Amino acid sequence: MKTAGRITGEALLLARDMVREGVSTFEIDKCIRAYIEKCGARPSFLGYGGFPGSACISINDEVIHGIPSKKRILKEGDIVKIDVGACWQGYHGDSARTIPVGNVSKEAQLLMDATRQSFFEGIAAVKTGARLGDVGYAIESYVKQFGLSVVRKYVGHGIGREVHEDPNVPNFGTPGHGIRLCKGMALAIEPMVNIGTGAVVEMDDGWTVKTADGQLSAHYENTILITDDDVIVLTEVEKGF
Ligand code: MG
Ligand code: MG
Repeated sequence: MKTAGRITGEALLLARDMVREGVSTFEIDKCIRAYIEKCGARPSFLGYGGFPGSACISINDEVIHGIPSKKRILKEGDIVKIDVGACWQGYHGDSARTIPVGNVSKEAQLLMDATRQSFFEGIAAVKTGARLGDVGYAIESYVKQFGLSVVRKYVGHGIGREVHEDPNVPNFGTPGHGIRLCKGMALAIEPMVNIGTGAVVEMDDGWTVKTADGQLSAHYENTILITDDDVIVLTEVEKGF
């Protein structure tokens, strides 16, 4: 899991360094795939349910599951969500970041910062004996202070030999409710946060999920492991990213 997480995190760093005006999401996806395969792993999402890319790359009001394409060219001011999974020796890592293209609006920056921080608020609630509802509550209550909304239709998940395992890990919850967390659990915690409504719509391509009101969305995800007295963030390979 540590190796899968590291490869996933490194692929995201590589992707971040490619993000600039004029680059297509196809080119970014191609490099992510090449890096993962060079590490002796395989992209978890390639062919998953028929998904055609190695990473999900979603721009602005696209929340998740954007399909990499030669026709999707990044523009100054965009925010781009890159979601990567890597499977190494049968175990998966899953991680996502939202990356600005050049200078972005203050509103977009606040959205990205709050979404990232909500993940850390969430994992501050993760410890042996805590409940899943504590985590979701911490995430949602943090972003609400800024008038932002979490997406409720899509959630985080357990991860291990499959990229998506039980339990579901919602970005909302009631403190003291839900299953108890215990050591040995690996979870993908992934706040998806919108400026406007948390409602989302699915596109005709069968994959892309957008905000219902057309406003911006951000995503931040890491795979974490609960140990005796700690939480290890397996997919964070550079502090502050
Ligand atoms: Mg993901
Ligand atoms: Mg995930």
